[in-house]
Amino acid sequence: MSQRRKFIKQSLIGTALFIPSISTACAADEKQKSSESGEIPLILSTWNHGLPANQAAMDSLTAGGTILDAVEAGVRDTELDMDNLSVGLQGLPDREGITTLDASIMTGDGNCGSVAFVRQIKHPISLARRVMEKTPHVMLAGEGARQFAIAEGFSLEKEELSPKAAIEYEKWKKTSQYKPIINIENHDTIGMIGIDANGNMAGSCTTSGLAYKMHGRVGDSPIIGAGLYVDNEVGAATATGLGETIIKICGSFLIVELMRQGRTPQEACEEAVRRLISKNKNINDIQAGFLAINKEGVTGAFAVHPGFNFAKATQSGNVLIDSNSHFKP
Ligand code: ASP
Repeated sequence: MSQRRKFIKQSLIGTALFIPSISTACAADEKQKSSESGEIPLILSTWNHGLPANQAAMDSLTAGGTILDAVEAGVRDTELDMDNLSVGLQGLPDREGITTLDASIMTGDGNCGSVAFVRQIKHPISLARRVMEKTPHVMLAGEGARQFAIAEGFSLEKEELSPKAAIEYEKWKKTSQYKPIINIENHDTIGMIGIDANGNMAGSCTTSGLAYKMHGRVGDSPIIGAGLYVDNEVGAATATGLGETIIKICGSFLIVELMRQGRTPQEACEEAVRRLISKNKNINDIQAGFLAINKEGVTGAFAVHPGFNFAKATQSGNVLIDSNSHFKP
C-alpha cells in the first residue's frame, strides 16, 4: 500500500461519514467488478484522493446541496490537499517554476465553464463555476481568468512553491528533462462525476497539469469533452492521464457518445482506451484512465496501464477500487 493511500485511510478514521453504520467499509480497497451497478445518488472520482473528495461531495448532498454543489465541494477538498502534487497551488510547477492550474465543471443540462493556465487561485474549480454562471463564455484563460477572479472577489495567493513542490523542482532542475512518467504521483488530477437521487448529473475536474510542462501548456482537464463531459440524457465521463492523448480522442465526449449508442459505461471506457492506444505509438510511456456513469448509475472505469484507481461513493459506502487496464500487471 502506498504511503499516500495509507495516509488517506488513516485520515478517514474518525471522519464523520454520511452513513455511520458502514464506517469500517469506507476505506476498503476493492477490485473492479465487470459491471458496477446502479445505486444513486452516486459519486465517482479519480485516484485515492477521491475518497475524502467523495465524502465532501456526499456531505454537500446530504446538507441539501445540488449535484453541482456536490462536485464543486468534492474537488475543492483535493485542491487544498498539501500531499497532492498535481492538483491545486501546491502542485508541481512548469519548467519555469510557475504553478498554473486548469479546471472545468459541467451540469447534465449542458451548462459548463472552465479556466485554463490560471495562476494564484486556490480554488480554480470555483472560478470555473463562476465562468459558467456569470459570463456568456465557457472558458477563460491565463491573465484574463485571473482578472475575472479578482473582479469576482477571489483572493490572489502568494506565488511561491509549496515546500514539497520546491524540493521536487530543485531535483528536476538538475537534469531539466521532461518525459511523461507513468506513475500515480505524476497523474493525479481529480475528475469527479456524480448523479443525484433525481437523476441529475454534474462533473468537475481540476489539476495543476503535467509536472514541468512548457509554460502555457494546457491539458485535457479544462477542455469540455476531453477531461469532462456530462449529459443527463445519457451519462457522464471524466479522464486523467496524459492530457494530450485524451484531447486527441475527445475522450470524455467519446465515452458519452458511445453510451448514447448503447455501450455500457465499461464498454465505452474500454473503447476509448483502445482508440487512444491506436493513435499513439509510444504507448509504453503513456498512462490515461477514464471513469463513466450512465443515467441508471451503472459505472465503468478503464486505463491504459495498471495503477489507476478510483473512489466510488453511494449510501452503502465510499470505497477505493483498482481499475482494470488494457495492459496487465
Ligand atoms: N490530465 C492532466 C493533464 O494532462 C494530468 C493528470 O491527469 O494528472 O494536465
